Amino acid sequence: MKYYSTNLKAEKVNFGTALLKGLADDGGLYMPETFPVFSPDELEALKAMDYPGIAYAVLHKYLADEIPADELRRLVDDAYDFEVPLEPVADRRFVMRLDQGPTASFKDFAARMMGRLMQFYLKKEHRKLLILTATSGDTGSAIANAFYGLDNIEVVVLFPTTEVTARQRKQMTTLGRNIRVLSLDGKFDDCQALVKLAFNDRELDHLQLSSANSINIGRLLPQAVYYFHSWAKLARDPGEEIILSVPSGNFGDLMGGLIAKQMGLPVARFVVATNENDEFPLYCENGEYHVIAPSRNCISSAMNVGHPSNVARLIAMYGGVMDEKGVIHQPADLDKIRREMYAVSVTDAQTEETIRSAYEAHKLLLEPHGAVAWAGLTRFLEAHAELRDRLCVSIETAHPAKFPEKIRELLGFDPELPPSLQNLDDKEEFVSPLENNYPAFKTLLQEKYSK
Ligand SMILES: *Cc1c(COP(=O)(O)O)cnc(C)c1O
Repeated sequence: MKYYSTNLKAEKVNFGTALLKGLADDGGLYMPETFPVFSPDELEALKAMDYPGIAYAVLHKYLADEIPADELRRLVDDAYDFEVPLEPVADRRFVMRLDQGPTASFKDFAARMMGRLMQFYLKKEHRKLLILTATSGDTGSAIANAFYGLDNIEVVVLFPTTEVTARQRKQMTTLGRNIRVLSLDGKFDDCQALVKLAFNDRELDHLQLSSANSINIGRLLPQAVYYFHSWAKLARDPGEEIILSVPSGNFGDLMGGLIAKQMGLPVARFVVATNENDEFPLYCENGEYHVIAPSRNCISSAMNVGHPSNVARLIAMYGGVMDEKGVIHQPADLDKIRREMYAVSVTDAQTEETIRSAYEAHKLLLEPHGAVAWAGLTRFLEAHAELRDRLCVSIETAHPAKFPEKIRELLGFDPELPPSLQNLDDKEEFVSPLENNYPAFKTLLQEKYSK
């Protein structure tokens, strides 16, 4: 199976190459040329499987000719050793909580699988990678936890000393082993600038630097899995259609769902819920796509994206071409997009009101990102009264305990910490200070990683 670039100018490659390259040479994003499809019998068979079993069934369809079956099975068992709860709310409406991984965010699902897939290919090719990542808190901890203890991969995380919370810091610094954490006397932008300089420094080429960024195809395919899981656990009749509500920022999560639908998952509609960064809802409404720059600051902070890079993939899936700046060169089938998706923008005020009302009405505890999805689903069902009895799953992407101030302000109590975030206080921290200058950073990389 081959992967093409959404800019259509780069060579088609196999999965392993797309995974280790990240971005195609023409600046486009990799997409599978065709989507393997589950037969109705295969779909029914998913109902008897646990999460790693479903992950294996989905990924094997893509990787059968690249990764031996028993090896892939080991990778998914290792990546998915936590629960994926489906919480009943009312009627046939559920919330799928993707917050039980090591950093209590749905990013764990993609990052853990991508790390293990990279490790497989690196070992096979006797190569090593040094991953550099700048973080203002969450991305760094997801990457650090996902890559912790993997062979052939070293990770260096830079964070601004005064801009991350103690809890965020400890999620990165209490790991050790192949995870080096540098505390920079500067701002997030300074961290990012140092990482960029290193990537562009040809004198560091021998270190095999890589970024593990969010547009990697290795993060996308694993995100199709939980949509199958929700259907397999909840659908009653064969072929029963499901309505899925997805809180969307960079649209990676949504792309996972769209891929699942291409593979045969019976989806009645996707509710695409954004915060006030509403470029996609406006595109669906009037057919014109305008990037929002700078992006708007909303309380669902991980969704503050003014031009989601994965929209180029969505446009490609519906027959169009969009470049990395957001310019559409060939229009997509907008009627089909409108039939399959209901795009909705949710304000901060509506998000807060949803956190309050969901708890009052259903004892449903949501944090800002999941609340955007729940608000979107509610609005969709208000507009489509005939679908009110359908099976609906709204996605919760982070644990409410990651937003204690907001929950306390709106609901008056402190959410309980999930096990992954407990006991951080007692653990030893491994962290080194770094001066805010490039020569210091470069010297450190050369001294520690040139072998
Ligand atoms: C990244 C993130 C999102 C948005 O997901 P995309 O794939 O970027 O659309 C939503 N919620 C949380 C908590 C996130 O970390």
